[in-house]
Amino acid sequence: MAQYSIVAIANQKGGVGKTTTAINLGAALAMDGRRTILIDLDPQGNASTGLGIDIGQRHHTVYDLLAGPETLSECIVPTRIPNLSIVPATSDLSSADVDLAQAKDRTQLLRRKLGDAPEGAVILIDCPPALGLLTVNAMIAADAVLVPLQAEFYALEGLSQLLTTVRHVRQSGNPDLRINGVLLTMSDYRNNLSQQVEADARATLGDLVFPTVIPRNVRVSEAPSFAQPVLLYDPSSKGSLAYRKFAAEFAVRLKPAKEEA
Ligand code: ADP
Ligand code: MG
Repeated sequence: MAQYSIVAIANQKGGVGKTTTAINLGAALAMDGRRTILIDLDPQGNASTGLGIDIGQRHHTVYDLLAGPETLSECIVPTRIPNLSIVPATSDLSSADVDLAQAKDRTQLLRRKLGDAPEGAVILIDCPPALGLLTVNAMIAADAVLVPLQAEFYALEGLSQLLTTVRHVRQSGNPDLRINGVLLTMSDYRNNLSQQVEADARATLGDLVFPTVIPRNVRVSEAPSFAQPVLLYDPSSKGSLAYRKFAAEFAVRLKPAKEEA
């Protein structure tokens, strides 16, 4: 009986911090000794690149996991961080929506392959900026959804669409799907607007919003070009400290690991 947690990091808006959160939350959990597997479900492959996985290392990708006979363990590539591995993506994933549109059980493809996840693992799925077949596959497979929200005007507007998708997924095969939290990202405390968005989000969403807010921090945006999480690139930066604090809050909200027969 394997026990593990699966969390989809989703928001249909691009540029809100999904990939940055996937990489740095993954790194923080791994550094705390948890076996962590990141699944790069975005055809842009930013999580793969940001963790230093060269194209040459992407023999088996998340596309094979979805559409081929490959198992999870065959698609996993280690990163330079102990305990953190990744199922990388390549651009062939961009045709998945079309390629898989006719597939039988097309929303269950990922869920089926995650059935043999290792004992005690945390699996983080970095979703693409859309609510299409890939994100639905992630939500069908997941125990919970983590929603990064950029602290800017209109931030809350896209949320109702996301929540509609979550409801739909609950009705169509994953009744236990939870939202385990909303993470405010790229907040700028010199800017009144960020504070206002945070106040609005807390008033509307209450405890769903994580106490820790991720500040806008140049070290966070520099780290990917060094193919590293900011936690390695600059461990004492404000961004690193915030992601570590957030990871501790996140770990508390993980459901006592999922049980698979
Ligand atoms: P998404 O995956 O939602 O499209 P990303 O995580 O790729 O968003 O972030 C979008 C851009 O913002 C990237 O260039 C990233 O480096 C930058 N970024 C993300 N979080 C921060 C932050 N806290 N401070 C500064 N830049 C950030
Ligand atoms: Mg991304």
